[in-house]
Amino acid sequence: LKNHSPVCSKPRYVRVNTLKMDVETAVHGLESITKVAKDDMVPDLLKLPSGTDLHDHPLVTSGSVVVQGKASSMVAVALCPQPGWEVLDACAAPGNKTVHLAALMKGMGNIIACELHKERARLLEDTIRRTGAPNVNIFQGDFLDLDARDPKFSKIRAILLDPSCSGSGIARERLDYLLPSFKKGEDGDAANSQRVRNLAAFQTKALLHALSFPAVERVVYSTCSIHQAENEDVISSVLPFATSIGFELATPFPQWPHRGLPVFNGAEHLLRTDPTEETEGFFIALFARKSETNKSEE
Ligand code: SAM
Repeated sequence: LKNHSPVCSKPRYVRVNTLKMDVETAVHGLESITKVAKDDMVPDLLKLPSGTDLHDHPLVTSGSVVVQGKASSMVAVALCPQPGWEVLDACAAPGNKTVHLAALMKGMGNIIACELHKERARLLEDTIRRTGAPNVNIFQGDFLDLDARDPKFSKIRAILLDPSCSGSGIARERLDYLLPSFKKGEDGDAANSQRVRNLAAFQTKALLHALSFPAVERVVYSTCSIHQAENEDVISSVLPFATSIGFELATPFPQWPHRGLPVFNGAEHLLRTDPTEETEGFFIALFARKSETNKSEE
């Protein structure tokens, strides 16, 4: 299957961890083993030929570059946190996006990285240690239990919410998606559909919670799912509440052609990446307080 799948021709992406190394040095280091191109949209992202094996390359083991897909690397960039901000990563392990946030913030400010599961919090710790992100504090516990009114969260300006999802945009599930009988948003399998419904209920709750932090100006919601139930439906169900407290949907990467499924007014702001586009199947939504929207679309 592996050799006949279009998935295999997907390029390999690595993100330069600018906390440890500049892009030119990383390009130089990788050019000794393979062909390297800079991504034209995501800063610090390098594109390598499909199948490039990097797992024990010194740049990877030292945390100077992070093997991370293009779609995954778009998420922290969409949040656009500034150096010095207080930021919350709500569902953080293994932490690839946490340390990307830290790099975008040039290591300045504070990131609270929340992770429910103890053993996954250890992975998060490893990622932070390896990449040298200096401004991350781990909170091991349930994001839904964080009290948004607690003074320690009163300065949180940006929240990244990348919750547990079906993962239907990646790996084996992607191949199902390419089958003609597959319909977006449906599995045809009762247990799987129930699982997606349960996940969507959690995702919706978590997104409403993220929006309720008093000083938050920007909230990014992302999944690696292709299901409408975990993506557009979650956004449309929280939109009335979000609008009522001054948020609107902003447009991450306006130049990206593939937007949300047109199932409600505003879905054109959402971003989808598709397994046919050299990426995994990802979904990104960006909520911005009205005064912040113009900045995000600049
Ligand atoms: N953002 C991560 C990254 O880029 O490396 C991937 C996050 S993964 C999709 C979702 C994570 O959320 C899992 O590690 C899961 O254990 C955690 N999680 C699930 N429910 C949670 C909750 N209620 N509070 C905090 N973390 C939770």
